[in-house]
Amino acid sequence: MITIAERLDAAYDRIAQAAKKCGRDHQGIKLIAVSKKKPLEDILAAFEHGHRDFAESYVQEGVEKVQQLSAHTNIVWHFIGPIQSNKTKQIAEHFSWVQSIDREKIAKRLNEQRPTNLKPLQVLIQVNIDNEENKSGCTVEELPMLAQFIDQCRQLELRGLMAIPAKSDSFDAQAQSFAQLRACFDKLKAQYPQLDTLSMGMSSDVDAAIAAGSTMVRIGTAIFGERQQ
Ligand SMILES: *Cc1c(COP(=O)(O)O)cnc(C)c1O
Repeated sequence: MITIAERLDAAYDRIAQAAKKCGRDHQGIKLIAVSKKKPLEDILAAFEHGHRDFAESYVQEGVEKVQQLSAHTNIVWHFIGPIQSNKTKQIAEHFSWVQSIDREKIAKRLNEQRPTNLKPLQVLIQVNIDNEENKSGCTVEELPMLAQFIDQCRQLELRGLMAIPAKSDSFDAQAQSFAQLRACFDKLKAQYPQLDTLSMGMSSDVDAAIAAGSTMVRIGTAIFGERQQ
Protein backbone atom coordinates (compact mmCIF):
# COMPACT_ATOMS: atom_id res chain seq x y z
CA MET A 1 0.00 0.00 0.00
CA ILE A 2 1.32 3.43 -0.92
CA THR A 3 0.54 5.94 1.83
CA ILE A 4 -0.83 9.44 1.38
CA ALA A 5 2.46 10.80 2.74
CA GLU A 6 4.35 8.95 -0.02
CA ARG A 7 1.96 10.16 -2.72
CA LEU A 8 2.28 13.69 -1.42
CA ASP A 9 6.07 13.44 -1.64
CA ALA A 10 5.70 12.10 -5.18
CA ALA A 11 3.49 15.08 -6.08
CA TYR A 12 6.09 17.51 -4.69
CA ASP A 13 8.77 15.66 -6.68
CA ARG A 14 6.73 15.84 -9.85
CA ILE A 15 6.31 19.59 -9.43
CA ALA A 16 10.05 20.00 -8.82
CA GLN A 17 10.89 17.92 -11.91
CA ALA A 18 8.43 19.81 -14.13
CA ALA A 19 9.78 23.14 -12.86
CA LYS A 20 13.38 22.09 -13.43
CA LYS A 21 12.59 20.97 -16.97
CA CYS A 22 11.52 24.49 -17.92
CA GLY A 23 14.05 26.35 -15.80
CA ARG A 24 11.62 27.52 -13.14
CA ASP A 25 12.05 27.65 -9.37
CA HIS A 26 9.69 25.05 -7.86
CA GLN A 27 9.18 27.30 -4.85
CA GLY A 28 7.07 29.52 -7.06
CA ILE A 29 4.51 26.73 -7.47
CA LYS A 30 2.10 25.99 -4.63
CA LEU A 31 0.51 22.58 -4.28
CA ILE A 32 -3.13 22.51 -3.20
CA ALA A 33 -4.36 19.07 -2.07
CA VAL A 34 -7.91 18.54 -3.37
CA SER A 35 -9.66 16.54 -0.67
CA LYS A 36 -13.25 16.52 -1.99
CA LYS A 37 -15.10 13.25 -1.32
CA LYS A 38 -12.24 12.09 0.88
CA PRO A 39 -12.52 11.48 4.65
CA LEU A 40 -11.01 13.59 7.41
CA GLU A 41 -8.42 10.86 8.12
CA ASP A 42 -6.95 11.43 4.66
CA ILE A 43 -6.69 15.18 5.22
CA LEU A 44 -5.09 14.57 8.60
CA ALA A 45 -2.56 12.16 7.07
CA ALA A 46 -1.46 14.90 4.66
CA PHE A 47 -1.53 17.50 7.44
CA GLU A 48 0.66 15.38 9.69
CA HIS A 49 3.08 15.07 6.80
CA GLY A 50 3.36 18.86 6.82
CA HIS A 51 0.85 19.86 4.15
CA ARG A 52 -1.31 22.91 4.86
CA ASP A 53 -3.36 23.88 1.76
CA PHE A 54 -6.52 21.91 1.03
CA ALA A 55 -9.36 22.44 -1.44
CA GLU A 56 -13.01 21.41 -1.42
CA SER A 57 -15.60 21.56 -4.21
CA TYR A 58 -18.94 21.01 -2.46
CA VAL A 59 -20.20 23.57 0.05
CA GLN A 60 -21.86 21.36 2.64
CA GLU A 61 -19.10 18.77 2.67
CA GLY A 62 -16.41 21.45 2.71
CA VAL A 63 -17.94 23.46 5.55
CA GLU A 64 -18.34 20.31 7.66
CA LYS A 65 -14.67 19.49 7.20
CA VAL A 66 -13.56 23.05 7.98
CA GLN A 67 -15.61 22.95 11.19
CA GLN A 68 -14.43 19.48 12.19
CA LEU A 69 -10.80 20.52 11.71
CA SER A 70 -11.21 24.01 13.19
CA ALA A 71 -8.61 23.26 15.88
CA HIS A 72 -6.04 23.09 13.07
CA THR A 73 -5.94 26.83 12.63
CA ASN A 74 -2.99 26.74 10.24
CA ILE A 75 -4.88 24.84 7.52
CA VAL A 76 -5.60 27.09 4.54
CA TRP A 77 -8.93 26.14 2.95
CA HIS A 78 -9.67 26.83 -0.72
CA PHE A 79 -13.11 26.60 -2.30
CA ILE A 80 -12.85 25.46 -5.94
CA GLY A 81 -16.34 24.25 -6.90
CA PRO A 82 -19.24 25.84 -8.78
CA ILE A 83 -20.99 28.48 -6.61
CA GLN A 84 -24.75 28.89 -6.26
CA SER A 85 -25.80 32.25 -4.87
CA ASN A 86 -27.65 30.72 -1.90
CA LYS A 87 -24.36 29.16 -0.74
CA THR A 88 -22.12 32.23 -0.77
CA LYS A 89 -22.54 33.04 2.93
CA GLN A 90 -21.24 29.66 4.04
CA ILE A 91 -18.27 30.00 1.70
CA ALA A 92 -17.52 33.57 2.82
CA GLU A 93 -17.53 32.51 6.47
CA HIS A 94 -15.43 29.35 6.27
CA PHE A 95 -12.85 29.56 3.50
CA SER A 96 -9.67 31.64 3.03
CA TRP A 97 -9.55 31.36 -0.74
CA VAL A 98 -12.26 31.13 -3.39
CA GLN A 99 -10.93 30.11 -6.79
CA SER A 100 -14.21 29.79 -8.68
CA ILE A 101 -15.79 33.24 -8.93
CA ASP A 102 -17.27 33.60 -12.40
CA ARG A 103 -19.89 36.32 -12.17
CA GLU A 104 -20.53 39.66 -10.53
CA LYS A 105 -23.51 38.51 -8.48
CA ILE A 106 -21.38 35.92 -6.69
CA ALA A 107 -18.54 38.38 -6.10
CA LYS A 108 -20.96 40.95 -4.69
CA ARG A 109 -22.50 38.48 -2.26
CA LEU A 110 -19.15 37.09 -1.10
CA ASN A 111 -17.92 40.63 -0.50
CA GLU A 112 -21.01 41.57 1.54
CA GLN A 113 -21.02 38.31 3.49
CA ARG A 114 -17.33 38.08 4.34
CA PRO A 115 -17.21 38.76 8.10
CA THR A 116 -15.36 42.03 8.72
CA ASN A 117 -13.28 40.51 11.55
CA LEU A 118 -11.69 38.18 8.99
CA LYS A 119 -9.02 39.07 6.47
CA PRO A 120 -10.44 39.67 2.96
CA LEU A 121 -11.20 36.55 0.94
CA GLN A 122 -8.35 35.75 -1.42
CA VAL A 123 -10.04 35.24 -4.77
CA LEU A 124 -9.39 33.97 -8.27
CA ILE A 125 -11.64 34.42 -11.26
CA GLN A 126 -12.47 31.15 -12.99
CA VAL A 127 -12.26 31.38 -16.77
CA ASN A 128 -14.01 28.89 -19.07
CA ILE A 129 -10.93 28.87 -21.25
CA ASP A 130 -12.15 26.35 -23.84
CA ASN A 131 -15.71 27.72 -23.97
CA GLU A 132 -17.23 24.45 -22.87
CA GLU A 133 -20.99 24.36 -22.62
CA ASN A 134 -21.38 22.80 -19.18
CA LYS A 135 -18.39 24.28 -17.46
CA SER A 136 -18.32 27.11 -14.92
CA GLY A 137 -16.20 30.16 -15.59
CA CYS A 138 -16.59 33.51 -17.27
CA THR A 139 -15.61 34.04 -20.89
CA VAL A 140 -12.36 35.74 -21.83
CA GLU A 141 -14.47 38.72 -22.97
CA GLU A 142 -16.21 39.04 -19.59
CA LEU A 143 -12.94 38.97 -17.66
CA PRO A 144 -12.01 42.70 -17.64
CA MET A 145 -15.39 43.83 -16.28
CA LEU A 146 -15.47 41.16 -13.60
CA ALA A 147 -11.91 41.98 -12.52
CA GLN A 148 -12.81 45.66 -12.32
CA PHE A 149 -15.81 44.86 -10.15
CA ILE A 150 -13.85 42.61 -7.77
CA ASP A 151 -11.00 45.11 -7.53
CA GLN A 152 -13.28 47.63 -5.82
CA CYS A 153 -14.68 45.11 -3.30
CA ARG A 154 -13.18 45.77 0.14
CA GLN A 155 -13.56 42.24 1.47
CA LEU A 156 -12.21 40.54 -1.67
CA GLU A 157 -8.56 40.53 -2.66
CA LEU A 158 -8.12 39.65 -6.32
CA ARG A 159 -5.08 37.38 -6.68
CA GLY A 160 -5.42 35.92 -10.17
CA LEU A 161 -7.09 33.37 -12.41
CA MET A 162 -8.11 29.71 -12.36
CA ALA A 163 -9.23 27.38 -15.14
CA ILE A 164 -10.04 23.75 -15.81
CA PRO A 165 -9.30 23.16 -19.50
CA ALA A 166 -11.16 20.69 -21.71
CA LYS A 167 -10.15 17.10 -20.97
CA SER A 168 -7.38 15.90 -23.24
CA ASP A 169 -4.58 13.37 -23.07
CA SER A 170 -2.47 15.39 -25.47
CA PHE A 171 0.26 17.52 -23.92
CA ASP A 172 0.00 19.95 -26.84
CA ALA A 173 -3.74 20.45 -26.47
CA GLN A 174 -3.32 20.97 -22.71
CA ALA A 175 -0.45 23.37 -23.35
CA GLN A 176 -2.56 25.39 -25.77
CA SER A 177 -5.37 25.94 -23.25
CA PHE A 178 -2.89 26.84 -20.53
CA ALA A 179 -1.09 29.29 -22.82
CA GLN A 180 -4.40 31.04 -23.43
CA LEU A 181 -5.04 31.40 -19.71
CA ARG A 182 -1.49 32.60 -19.21
CA ALA A 183 -2.03 35.28 -21.85
CA CYS A 184 -5.22 36.44 -20.09
CA PHE A 185 -3.29 36.56 -16.81
CA ASP A 186 -0.40 38.59 -18.25
CA LYS A 187 -2.82 41.05 -19.80
CA LEU A 188 -4.76 41.48 -16.56
CA LYS A 189 -1.59 41.77 -14.51
CA ALA A 190 -0.49 44.70 -16.62
CA GLN A 191 -3.51 46.51 -15.19
CA TYR A 192 -3.48 44.97 -11.70
CA PRO A 193 0.20 44.44 -10.80
CA GLN A 194 -0.67 42.81 -7.45
CA LEU A 195 -1.92 39.66 -9.23
CA ASP A 196 0.38 36.75 -8.39
CA THR A 197 -1.62 33.55 -8.78
CA LEU A 198 -2.25 31.47 -11.88
CA SER A 199 -4.09 28.35 -10.70
CA MET A 200 -3.87 25.68 -13.36
CA GLY A 201 -2.85 22.03 -13.43
CA MET A 202 -4.46 18.91 -11.95
CA SER A 203 -3.34 15.26 -11.63
CA SER A 204 -3.48 14.62 -15.38
CA ASP A 205 -2.06 17.85 -16.78
CA VAL A 206 0.24 19.32 -14.15
CA ASP A 207 3.38 19.13 -16.32
CA ALA A 208 1.87 21.14 -19.18
CA ALA A 209 0.47 23.65 -16.68
CA ILE A 210 3.83 24.24 -15.04
CA ALA A 211 5.52 24.62 -18.42
CA ALA A 212 2.94 27.31 -19.22
CA GLY A 213 3.65 29.27 -16.03
CA SER A 214 1.27 27.91 -13.41
CA THR A 215 1.93 29.17 -9.86
CA MET A 216 -0.65 26.94 -8.15
CA VAL A 217 -1.59 23.35 -8.95
CA ARG A 218 -4.66 21.55 -7.60
CA ILE A 219 -4.06 17.84 -7.20
CA GLY A 220 -6.58 15.34 -5.86
CA THR A 221 -6.41 11.85 -7.37
CA ALA A 222 -2.62 11.60 -7.43
CA ILE A 223 -2.50 12.27 -3.67
CA PHE A 224 -5.68 10.70 -2.28
CA GLY A 225 -6.50 8.09 -4.95
CA GLU A 226 -9.59 7.74 -7.17
CA ARG A 227 -12.81 9.27 -5.87
CA GLN A 228 -16.12 7.38 -5.54
CA GLN A 229 -18.69 8.74 -7.97
C1 LIG B 1 -11.46 17.81 -8.47
C2 LIG B 1 -10.74 19.02 -8.89
C3 LIG B 1 -9.34 19.03 -8.99
C4 LIG B 1 -8.47 17.80 -8.74
O1 LIG B 1 -8.56 16.92 -9.82
P1 LIG B 1 -7.66 15.59 -9.86
O2 LIG B 1 -7.80 15.15 -11.28
O3 LIG B 1 -8.29 14.63 -8.91
O4 LIG B 1 -6.29 15.94 -9.50
C5 LIG B 1 -8.72 20.22 -9.32
N1 LIG B 1 -9.42 21.35 -9.57
C6 LIG B 1 -10.76 21.37 -9.49
C7 LIG B 1 -11.47 22.65 -9.76
C8 LIG B 1 -11.46 20.22 -9.16
O5 LIG B 1 -12.80 20.27 -9.09
